[in-house]
Amino acid sequence: MQYLFTPPDVNVVPVKDSDSKFPVRRVYCVGRNYADHALEMGADPTREQPFFFAKPADAIVAATNNAVIALDYPSETSNFHYEVELVVGIGKAGKYITVADAKDHIWGYAIGLDMTRRDLQQDMRKGGKPWEIGKAFDRSAPISAMVPAAHAGDIDNAAIALAVNGVSKQSSSITKLIWSVPEIISYLSRFFELQPGDLIFTGTPEGIGPVVSGDTMHASIDGLGTLEAKIN
Ligand code: MN
Repeated sequence: MQYLFTPPDVNVVPVKDSDSKFPVRRVYCVGRNYADHALEMGADPTREQPFFFAKPADAIVAATNNAVIALDYPSETSNFHYEVELVVGIGKAGKYITVADAKDHIWGYAIGLDMTRRDLQQDMRKGGKPWEIGKAFDRSAPISAMVPAAHAGDIDNAAIALAVNGVSKQSSSITKLIWSVPEIISYLSRFFELQPGDLIFTGTPEGIGPVVSGDTMHASIDGLGTLEAKIN
């Protein structure tokens, strides 16, 4: 057997202060998981069941050696938005994982940007159509190095923030997640058997907004460090 063409490389996220790499299998994302963000999206902030969308594994763009990630302004949009999010890396397979057991399935955490063509997402949403062209495009998921769970500090109480060109835009706390990380893992695992290498973007707090060419985004989560990305 021979491949017809060279298969793509496995996409990886570097592990902070290590030569190890976290190989990415799937990328799940949670929608509207902070009340004040649900409100700014015109949605009901009460505790509806969590909902999920996905990005392809090769949408992940990892920072190497903490360098600034370069992002081209994407095609077919005039409203390109940032969303800073806590990302969970799964290290152990499971389905029907209980909330009590969920943390045993976490390998580590990273800072992610759920970059969004907001105009296209809104158009699709209005029409009841899938969100892929708004959410799952090439290089739509910049990510920091992964930090092992044991070294991530008190992540459940961490501050999460994003600034554009030095101006604060998003500033919240992981305590404000409507669905906690163990609840997300438990719920998601009812529908998909989770596997090592899966990433879960856990939702963004309020303060989303646009970036344009020349802008630099600076994202941070306590215990995980920082992530910088510049729009070409
Ligand atoms: Mn998001």
